[in-house]
Amino acid sequence: MRLGIDFDNTLADFVTLLQRITLERTGFELRGLRERHPGVVDLESIIHAAIGKERFESLMTEIHETDLTVEMPPQPGAVETARRLATQHELVIVTARGDHESAAVHRWLERHGIPIVGYVATNRAPKAPHAIDHGLAVHLDDTASVLEAFDEAHPTVPALIAHPMNAKATRAAHWRSVEDWLAFERLVQSLEQER
Ligand SMILES: [Mg+2]
Repeated sequence: MRLGIDFDNTLADFVTLLQRITLERTGFELRGLRERHPGVVDLESIIHAAIGKERFESLMTEIHETDLTVEMPPQPGAVETARRLATQHELVIVTARGDHESAAVHRWLERHGIPIVGYVATNRAPKAPHAIDHGLAVHLDDTASVLEAFDEAHPTVPALIAHPMNAKATRAAHWRSVEDWLAFERLVQSLEQER
């Protein structure tokens, strides 16, 4: 089967790197922000007030566009599971990044020995049409809004991997929710058996 895999916060841990770089560059501690401000929905406004919107956005851009991407740690179990899945299936990276943000993603994949057969950078455009173009049996993502376009008629099974950022997101009934990469591997096995 062809498996669509998102990159940021699905394969690689963008948040942890952002926390480290923000602390190093600005002294502002992003870790525990949610706990320090219980009930605040718009955490970005707190970050902007603390270090400035432009400063924060330039850090995000730098992580996306430079070799800092290569320093992103893998999500737990992601590398081992993706390598194992790649022995029986074809992995296609489907990221909302643009081409200019993709060179370092390829270096990250090489560094961690994850073979792929395809790479789609949508440049913030919807992923669902690309899933059809690439014949994806399933697409794994951490962003709930990305999966909204994978409606029940869409041939690709939408799978949401648990992440603190999507803990409160509304999930459609036909989505598959997976706690982690091992649960995604089990989902792939069950989809394979259904075919
Ligand atoms: Mg993501």
